[in-house]
Amino acid sequence: MRKYALKGLSVCFALVLTFCGACRAESGGTEKTNVSSGTVVLDAGHGGIDGGVKGRLTGVKESDLNLEIVKELSACFRAGGFKVVLTRRGAGGLYGLPTKGFKRRDMEKRKAIANGSNADLFLSVHVNFFPSPSRRGAQVFFKEGDERSRAFAERLQKSLNEAPEQPGTFAALAGDYFVLNECECVCALAECGFLSNEEDERLLTDKTYREKLAFYLYKGAVDYLTSGAL
Ligand SMILES: [Zn+2]
Repeated sequence: MRKYALKGLSVCFALVLTFCGACRAESGGTEKTNVSSGTVVLDAGHGGIDGGVKGRLTGVKESDLNLEIVKELSACFRAGGFKVVLTRRGAGGLYGLPTKGFKRRDMEKRKAIANGSNADLFLSVHVNFFPSPSRRGAQVFFKEGDERSRAFAERLQKSLNEAPEQPGTFAALAGDYFVLNECECVCALAECGFLSNEEDERLLTDKTYREKLAFYLYKGAVDYLTSGAL
């Protein structure tokens, strides 16, 4: 087992190579997961009166899907030995009362959690919508000019591109997002698919697929951490 330095700590990495509950249950037949001592902040985008985008077919809210994906991701990272910090755990937003300026308060709260957690990684989870319904697939964004975050996003995207359900053609892109711009640690934002696309909506509303999606994101994060790029 190889050892890597993470925030001055010595940590060990191994990776479960299967998905679908493998992250949750350290059960037989797979390599043991033991990624220890890192802290990751997982950010389920939107929440409360801010539902984000909506599915064309089912009307599913992005905020609900983001939270479900984050729950799966959390299971993966915890099984890997990470300390996991969630910006939100429930359906509500982080803005307090739903009054004027709620979006700004929500964003500031996410920033405070991200930067107050002494985290190694920050990953924000969203789902996209595009006027053209043909556009589909998961796409990862990083903060312009932040090379470590670019490397992290590229690993996440590469891993996602390996999922058979993905078009596999996206490259990580620079994106102008508040949570990335304000984040002090290595960070990325995953738009996990398009609710304007029928196939993506069908996939994202399927729990088994969300588990798989989370696994590929987790695998990309471990790939980044084991690349020595921190
Ligand atoms: Zn969003």
